[in-house]
Amino acid sequence: MTAGTRDIEKAAGVLRAGGLVALPTETVYGLGADAENPAAVSRIFHTKGRPPSHPLIVHLSGAGQLDDWVADVPETARLLAERFWPGPLTLVLRRGTRVPLEATGGLETVAVRVPAHPVALALLSAFGGGVTAPSANRFGSVSPTTAQHVRAELGDAVDFVLDGGSCEVGVESTIVDATGETPAILRPGGVTREDLEAVLGRTLAVPSTSHVRVPGQHPSHYAPRARVVLVEPGKVVAEAQLAQELGHRVGVFLPASLAGTPVKAHAVVTVPDSLAAYARGLYGYLRELDHAGCDLIIASLPAEEGLGLAIANRLRRAAGPRTTV
Ligand code: AMP
Ligand code: MG
Repeated sequence: MTAGTRDIEKAAGVLRAGGLVALPTETVYGLGADAENPAAVSRIFHTKGRPPSHPLIVHLSGAGQLDDWVADVPETARLLAERFWPGPLTLVLRRGTRVPLEATGGLETVAVRVPAHPVALALLSAFGGGVTAPSANRFGSVSPTTAQHVRAELGDAVDFVLDGGSCEVGVESTIVDATGETPAILRPGGVTREDLEAVLGRTLAVPSTSHVRVPGQHPSHYAPRARVVLVEPGKVVAEAQLAQELGHRVGVFLPASLAGTPVKAHAVVTVPDSLAAYARGLYGYLRELDHAGCDLIIASLPAEEGLGLAIANRLRRAAGPRTTV
């Protein structure tokens, strides 16, 4: 059931007392704490099992709060904030004095965003301050897109869960480094590269997926329990069948173009044709195949345009080598 006014008040009280609140955003559910309370921020890292060097995103109730939290806002950043907030765009800017180093992984920059979810915005307004919130899951695993996912994964480790229904976007925000003259995409996400380029009037580099560029971006992330293997779209059916015959319990991401094709596998998810629907469903499908008991997931990458860039980025990481931190 969607959170009401009393839930919002209660959640704001939990934040003020240094507690952890899981909150819905349009991207994924976040694990929120008072950004200015280092002990509360530390609890986030502890609860997630996330290395403290991985910086967090500070969520604000409106672009009007920007100057309270960052030291210097270049014109380009103001333009992007004006155009895309509230929304799935995170801006990396110079850290203001209000932001403790615990929240930035020791960096002199800070990531900020105004989420486009009525429950998140109501909480941010009621609380008044900034809320640091990474995704409300254990480090490295699949991000939650429903309150139920959060409860199942974190249980009592969270003081209060605000339910805001299923996340509309379904993948994390696009992170843009806006500290310098030339903005750069650090992580593809809910705002497309094409939309950013249209507003900026220039092309942006596609983020590298081959090596770690950004603190907190490890090769293996967003990973289900099952091993994920990426193949060409035309080979999904044959590879799935082969692995199933070899004794695996295979889960399949069947490309939309092959919908209806019989597949010999343990469980099959037919990927939606619309990239928005695919992004919205992505993490739920990975969880679904885990729950079905699959030990191997065979998938292919969508064309890396629009939201396809973020979906491909998450699938690559889900398939990445599972080294420890
Ligand atoms: P998550 O909260 O799990 O979506 O992850 C937030 C991500 O934002 C981090 O893992 C970093 O990749 C990125 N990020 C946060 N703060 C900064 C920063 N100051 N500089 C660069 N990247 C950042
Ligand atoms: Mg995360």
